[in-house]
Amino acid sequence: MTKTVNHVVTRPGRKHGDADVQIPVAEDLTTVPGIRQRDADVSFYSRTYPQETQNIEKAADRQWVWSVYSEETLKHRKRHDELNEPLVDAAAVSGDLEPTGTPTGEDITDAIRLKARELGFGEVGFTKFDRRYTYTGKKRWVKYEHAICLALEQDYVQTQSLPSMDAEFAHFGTYEIEGALLLDLADYIRSLGYHAQVHSPNDNSAPYIPMFVAAGLGQLGANGQLLSPHFGSRARIAMITTDALVTYDEPIDYGIHQFCQVCQVCVNRCPGRALLAEKVWWRGVEKNKLIYERCRPVMARYDGCAVCMKVCPIQRFGMPAVMEHYVATGEVLGKGTHLLEGYTFLERGYFGPGELPQFDRQFFEIPHGRNEEWLFQQFKEKLMNEGLPSEEEIVGFAKQVRSILVKGNSTIGDE
Ligand code: SF4
Ligand code: SF4
Repeated sequence: MTKTVNHVVTRPGRKHGDADVQIPVAEDLTTVPGIRQRDADVSFYSRTYPQETQNIEKAADRQWVWSVYSEETLKHRKRHDELNEPLVDAAAVSGDLEPTGTPTGEDITDAIRLKARELGFGEVGFTKFDRRYTYTGKKRWVKYEHAICLALEQDYVQTQSLPSMDAEFAHFGTYEIEGALLLDLADYIRSLGYHAQVHSPNDNSAPYIPMFVAAGLGQLGANGQLLSPHFGSRARIAMITTDALVTYDEPIDYGIHQFCQVCQVCVNRCPGRALLAEKVWWRGVEKNKLIYERCRPVMARYDGCAVCMKVCPIQRFGMPAVMEHYVATGEVLGKGTHLLEGYTFLERGYFGPGELPQFDRQFFEIPHGRNEEWLFQQFKEKLMNEGLPSEEEIVGFAKQVRSILVKGNSTIGDE
């Protein structure tokens, strides 16, 4: 059934030099530009319950994953971490570097956008760095007010083989390329006379998606990922903040919020049953919330999983094609087909539309919280089940806690 078009969004083409694209948004998909949120609630939660990176808050399971990785994953992750470390380290101190050029006092939004597109970033947008989202440990680290949101496309062909090592090579390889490109772009901004601080995609200063949405680069999908116009959630996102004079972009309604309620492909295809059909209000924002504890065990054991990325029609076909199809037919492009919904799980075989792998309860039992919290949890259980521990065990426990506290938790992770 043909739909009435409410508005048409015009966006730059996928690559630098490509013609603009038009995205028609149907009347029945129209909600709000960006995302529905209650500003006062966002401020309240940020003050009262400030967020910390999962790399710290969930350090126990982040450490546990290394014990269940396949040999190939283990080797690849170690290699990636070696290659990535200098990029993450350079980003960490990039905000301290002084400009190398002289500022003209003019707005340099277009110059930065052009340079970023030439470097290969598919999506570039400008907004205020919203400090309400800053992770606790990074509050003093963020120096500049203006955020440049940058998305680099992960290889299309490799991504369609998800979950697989080939797709993992694309995932981590894109971050390695992106880490270097961000440093180049920051150098360019400094050459124009301004400071530039690189917010690494692997050492996040905040959840970046809210700022990408504010900058009009997409909307939040039911899979918990940014759905960008050309490559959907196949966007690897990072930011640079600067004190340069720039003009902010505006949030856009691409029709994604309502489209996800019609589509639901990722929700139905998630092997961990970690995605929820209905939206909830969370920290002042209305969104589909992922159940972390049902996702993590699958991700860790099955090559990063990311079925929710693979089966998303916006990722597979691009937003213009998907929205044009919806307007013409009222249907979700590819929904119910093997092409979009099918996937193969290591040692378990192929799962077509309507079929999901089964896991028992034990499969989902993973360590929770910070390392020291998990240690306390285990200690409490031992106390309840086995009675008072020996002096030697108590000293051993104290030593373990101390070593965790002295070592501290790293903000660096594998997003
Ligand atoms: S990564 Fe896999 S388990 Fe996790 S939400 Fe996506 S589809 Fe579900
Ligand atoms: S698969 Fe469908 S429901 Fe899930 S994020 Fe993509 S468009 Fe939204």
